[in-house]
Amino acid sequence: MALRPDQFYDHAMAVADGERRLPLADMTGWDISPFDQDGLRVAPLRPPVVPDPPRHGEDPAECRNCQERDEGIWFNDHWRLARVTGVGVPLALMLYPRDHYDMADLPDDLAAELGLLTTRVVRHVQALPHISRAHVYRIGDGAAHLHVWFFARPEGQAQLFGSWLVVWDDLLPEYPADIAEADAAVVADALVASHGGRRTAASSPPARPAV
Ligand SMILES: [Zn+2]
Repeated sequence: MALRPDQFYDHAMAVADGERRLPLADMTGWDISPFDQDGLRVAPLRPPVVPDPPRHGEDPAECRNCQERDEGIWFNDHWRLARVTGVGVPLALMLYPRDHYDMADLPDDLAAELGLLTTRVVRHVQALPHISRAHVYRIGDGAAHLHVWFFARPEGQAQLFGSWLVVWDDLLPEYPADIAEADAAVVADALVASHGGRRTAASSPPARPAV
């Protein structure tokens, strides 16, 4: 059986200092870390609070992702894909079921389609020029309605390899929206070809600027 919350906290505190700060993560020593270890310190670890706070959309009647079920760059009867704006990476996409499901609640047919869609979105993002990788994340601590992240990692930017990518994304300036919009439209068209569904009219691609 997993440790109780208080046991888990005591377990962590065993290696913390007098200010409840854990030692720096090994990850901060990686050459892809966005932070120098000099001057860096860990925030004090707060004691557990149970139960966990409710997430956005625990009540489907108040779920933003249900209200936005027709928004995005691509959709079919069960899924929709949207572009996340204001990010630092070249492209960030989010895949949602159109109806209110968390991952653990997905019916088998939708779970199977999620596997296909995830694979195809990754394939289409990675086919974009100057994109090397599409990283996939499902976390779900903030919102109850399943949402799967796809982060495009720019070619050649080797410091952005790996699990720090989402932190680099937050550090980088906003990527040019017109280029991201055009690339998202390419992905949506490719998804129509590979998986069916349709691209939303609102996402007609703007002319791609010369770069
Ligand atoms: Zn919902």
